[in-house]
Amino acid sequence: MKSKQSKTNYHQTEGIVLRRQVYKETSLLCHCLTRDYGIITIIATGAVKEQSQFTGLLEPFNQLSLDLYKTARSEIFNLKSAGLIKIHSEKSNYKTTLLMSAAVELFLQIDFTDGDSEDTYLLLKNYFVFLKDSPYNQFLLFIRLALRTLQYIGIPLELCCHKCGNSEVIYFAPQEDAFLCENCTDRRMSDFLLSIDRDAVASLRNVYNLKNEDPDHTSEAIVLDFKKILLTHLENHFNKRFYLKSLEDY
Ligand SMILES: [Zn+2]
Repeated sequence: MKSKQSKTNYHQTEGIVLRRQVYKETSLLCHCLTRDYGIITIIATGAVKEQSQFTGLLEPFNQLSLDLYKTARSEIFNLKSAGLIKIHSEKSNYKTTLLMSAAVELFLQIDFTDGDSEDTYLLLKNYFVFLKDSPYNQFLLFIRLALRTLQYIGIPLELCCHKCGNSEVIYFAPQEDAFLCENCTDRRMSDFLLSIDRDAVASLRNVYNLKNEDPDHTSEAIVLDFKKILLTHLENHFNKRFYLKSLEDY
């Protein structure tokens, strides 16, 4: 018994379930963003069985206390027990749920290997709380989360013309991964540029200084423009495809 203990490591942390799938018929394989270990894979043995202690706990967006163990060699954690802290999806409407899913998609695709996992954990947890309890426009809250995440991983998106610094930008240049103002735009190149809606630019500029108005109204232009800019920026930096399927229905 003693020798077995010495090879197994026990861990206590807090985490948010990002996604889960049935594993070997009766168990669940979950990806969780944890306060202490970043995004990890957890096996909950027997979680699908009728009288499992995990029934109802391992749902996406749930915030849990986690008792975990793993052997030194394994990358995967085993779930010993879990306690419910908060059901973030409770009373969420369809659109709120889509924005929660979009954040989860984003986090699952970004490589957070460096840095402090507590920061990323708080970023997502506070976003979920804020989405439901604040009077601000929900899509702008998603933009703010995305911009903060980019800043956190060291690839901030600067909303100003990359040639002259003017904040009145009208284009995003995918190849240069940067914004352009009217004066600095070579019109012959406009076919290769993403024209940005004026209102979308204004919203982006005010994203850290939101006013409590229009919590639900979001123009289609800002959703499409921001999604395109965000995905292009991520793809340029990580050199792989990114997607945000949840926003297709938004
Ligand atoms: Zn310029």
